[in-house]
Amino acid sequence: MERMITCINCPVGCRMTVALSESGEVVSVTGNTCPRGAAYARQECTLPERMITAVIPVEGSPVPLSVKTSKPVPKSLIPEVMRELGHVHVSLPVSAGQVILGNVLETGSDIVATRNLR
Ligand code: SF4
Repeated sequence: MERMITCINCPVGCRMTVALSESGEVVSVTGNTCPRGAAYARQECTLPERMITAVIPVEGSPVPLSVKTSKPVPKSLIPEVMRELGHVHVSLPVSAGQVILGNVLETGSDIVATRNLR
């Protein structure tokens, strides 16, 4: 089986072909210009990950707070991470980079603020 994947690591956007065994293991990656593409293709075919961005309400602020994960988390956990964010209570002031929720769902990734709110 083959899968086509576009590398998103740089603007070149190499189109790669991933050959998979019947059990779903990556056999080969072609079409990548550099090793980062092959690593991305292998990750996408085994355990795809994504950065998550969101906005959450802040007590006392008319403006919501934009947040993001500090590193990619398994794509399958996105709905659960969003549910966790729905339970977070944040109040002013907030600083950019402040950890809003540490080690979300034991992923090793923190939810951090991306802006200051005073
Ligand atoms: S394989 Fe390398 S050159 Fe191609 S898009 Fe990915 S990072 Fe860029």
